Amino acid sequence: MSKPHAVIAIDLPAGLLEDLRRSINPIVTGSDPAAVEAALPRAEGILCSALLPLPAERLDRAPNLRVISNFGVGIDNIDLAAATARGIAVCNTPGVLSGAVADLTIGLILAIARRLFENAAYARDGWPRRQPPPPLGWDPAGKLLGIVGFGRIGQAVALRARAFGMEVIYHDLVDEPVEGLEDCRPVPLDELLELSDVVSLHVNLDPSTHHLIGARELARMKPTAWLINTSRGAVVDQSALVEALRQRTIAGAALDVLDPEPPAADEPLLAMENVILLPHIGSATVETRAAMRDMAVRNLIAVLTGRVPPACINPEVLAARA
Ligand code: NAD
Repeated sequence: MSKPHAVIAIDLPAGLLEDLRRSINPIVTGSDPAAVEAALPRAEGILCSALLPLPAERLDRAPNLRVISNFGVGIDNIDLAAATARGIAVCNTPGVLSGAVADLTIGLILAIARRLFENAAYARDGWPRRQPPPPLGWDPAGKLLGIVGFGRIGQAVALRARAFGMEVIYHDLVDEPVEGLEDCRPVPLDELLELSDVVSLHVNLDPSTHHLIGARELARMKPTAWLINTSRGAVVDQSALVEALRQRTIAGAALDVLDPEPPAADEPLLAMENVILLPHIGSATVETRAAMRDMAVRNLIAVLTGRVPPACINPEVLAARA
């Protein structure tokens, strides 16, 4: 029997590619857009990252597609409704990256609290001759962290923040108590924005969370509060954020994600001193990326060989095939 054809649009280490070749025929490897596009009509599976947009029109050019295996947990690059309507399973990599994104979020909280970037610049730039003395930070202990989106990553952030003595409140569509995190209190979004010393965003991007944080929400935050975004750039209305930062209606923002990515050369956030910018590195550790690749490959192989994948967003598609 011939092996199912798949587009492998992310780089895989040789060993993993060999494993995959045992059951799959990779008709394209690598992210060259022209090669990926040309292979769509034959593709039964696609292994891709968020860098490959898969709107309905593109799915229409892939009539044989049975599975999209996304390298990442966020699937906002994929038109999920269109994929489901076409009987295409959409798989992702939940859980294996939660710790890495939560670690980065805590790193940002500590960097903000201890003014690490300002103080590092101070040390390089003339210390010890400089006056005034290095700027003082603040203790996370006793400060209020507001988590917007209390899913896998939001909860992993809460667990870590408690170890630094922070109090945690959260806002989510689901507000049932979470085992082991019963002391974290669910609150309406406005209350969270008004009370928090640090607001950290961990929702998935969909129409309900697009520009969830706009001018109205930023105006509710304390002038001393920081906004952290390690979810998706479009969860925040970026022009409203620039304005709030210019007017100092909030103290600053630490952003791992932007809209668009990479930012335009004239993006005002690039030049603002009360902003920390990172190039979308939430899951970027050796161990986490390896675990994500492994899970994405297992998802692809499982669906194309008629087995249950480790993680599927629309399992009804698989149930309908059984
Ligand atoms: P998750 O599904 O476990 O958590 C998302 C939470 O957001 C859920 O609890 C959901 O109920 C809540 N939510 C959804 N819509 C909401 C709304 N309108 N208001 C309030 N809450 C709402 O997902 P996760 O595994 O925690 O990942 C969250 C997101 O983090 C991903 O979708 C992805 O976009 C982002 N992410 C970023 C990086 C990075 O590199 N920066 C890495 C991994 C994930």
